[in-house]
Amino acid sequence: MRLERLLATLTGDEPFPTRLLACNLADTKRRNAHLGHAVVDEDIARFDALLGEAARPGSRLARVGGDAWLVLGDEGPALVDAICTRYAETRPYRAGWRCRARSAGEDREASEVVTTSIARAARFVSAPVRSREEIGAVAERLAEAIGGAPVGELCALEGLAAPAPRWCCVARYPEVAFYCPFCRGSRFEWTDGDSGVYSGDGRCAACGAEVAFTDAGGALR
Ligand SMILES: [Zn+2]
Repeated sequence: MRLERLLATLTGDEPFPTRLLACNLADTKRRNAHLGHAVVDEDIARFDALLGEAARPGSRLARVGGDAWLVLGDEGPALVDAICTRYAETRPYRAGWRCRARSAGEDREASEVVTTSIARAARFVSAPVRSREEIGAVAERLAEAIGGAPVGELCALEGLAAPAPRWCCVARYPEVAFYCPFCRGSRFEWTDGDSGVYSGDGRCAACGAEVAFTDAGGALR
C-alpha cells in the first residue's frame, strides 16, 4: 500500500478526530482474467473519477494500490451511495471453457459454456482516526479487513464480524468443470497454466491424453 501518496495530500490543517475510508474494487483478478486488462483499467479510471467527484471538498484522497484508495475526512454513506449508483454494472456474459485434446494421433474437443452475467462492484470500510500519527495503523487494519466486507455498502470496521461470503463477479459458471474429451476424467497433471480462470495445459491422469484448456467465455451483446 502506497500510504505516502495519501500523506502527501495532507496540509496540516485537517481536523482530528476524523475518519479513514478504504475503498477497493471487488474481484479485480477475475474480471482481469475474463475481460482483460483494458476493461480493468477502465474500471480503475471510472472509480477514480467518481471518487474524485463525490468526495467532500475538505477530504484528502489518494489511490494507494492498483485498485485501492484511501479517503481521509468526514465521509459517510452519501459518498458510497453516490459512487455505487454510478459504478455498479451488470452485463450479460458467457462463461465456460474449451478443451483441445490429443491422444494417439487423434484430436478431440469438449466445451461447457453457460449464459450468465458479469458484474462490477466495490467495497468500502471506514474507521475513526484520532491523529495523523494513527493513519498508518488504521490503514493497515482497513486493508486487512476489506476483503471480507460485502460489496456496494459502507461498512464500519468496528462492525465487521465474520467475513462475508466471497463475492464473485460472474454470477454462474458451468456446473461441470474441466473434463477430458476422451475419457471424461477430471483429474489432470498440469504442466503449464497462467492466471486465467480457465487455463491450463497438461495430461489427463486417467487416459494420458494431452489437454489444453482455454477460457471460452466472452461478453454478450
Ligand atoms: Zn482422459
